[in-house]
Amino acid sequence: MRPMPNSLRGPADASPRGGRLLLHVCCAPDASVPWPALMDEGFDVCAFFYGDNIHPEDEWRRRLDAVRALREILGASVVEGDYRPSRWFAEASALSGEPEGGRRCALCFSLQLTATAGYAAKNGFRYAGTTLTISPHKDPALINEIGAAACRGFGVEWVPRVWRKGDGFKLSVGRSREWGLYRQNYCGCAYSFRGGEEKG
Ligand code: SF4
Repeated sequence: MRPMPNSLRGPADASPRGGRLLLHVCCAPDASVPWPALMDEGFDVCAFFYGDNIHPEDEWRRRLDAVRALREILGASVVEGDYRPSRWFAEASALSGEPEGGRRCALCFSLQLTATAGYAAKNGFRYAGTTLTISPHKDPALINEIGAAACRGFGVEWVPRVWRKGDGFKLSVGRSREWGLYRQNYCGCAYSFRGGEEKG
């Protein structure tokens, strides 16, 4: 494990708390700020890599490998969610023509965060959160609203954060480069891949 540099202090915006927290992780670069910041706040953090939305499978594997590399750097733990993209397509394909930021993305957030909340509830996590709000292309208020609603249904406490605050996104880009983490150039699904969108 590499030593954790002081620059790991992220843009946390809450008082330190403790307890087991399941952190939904969509990719290693986006996790490089929230994950250590929540550990630093005093949470007992376990990452949850989950993404039926990610396409194609080779890309999912590359992102998983990068999350494993980050786990080694941080000396932390990861749960690797199963990968069944057919579940995602069954829900989202009707919205294939939506632009990034539209209804398909709201559904995609809901699928990811409901899976996270369900896993957290089944496995005794008191808290859940996500790395998604580090993206400059996503609506953090919507993500936090969806995450909180998903958690309410499972009796888990949502930890709302806006990770892009305080130059969080820029910090994540720098860390990814410094630590040699694979960083993709599109959001994740087949429709964002086709459109060649910038990473969000
Ligand atoms: S663009 Fe990103 S957030 Fe939107 S549906 Fe595709 S993977 Fe999900």
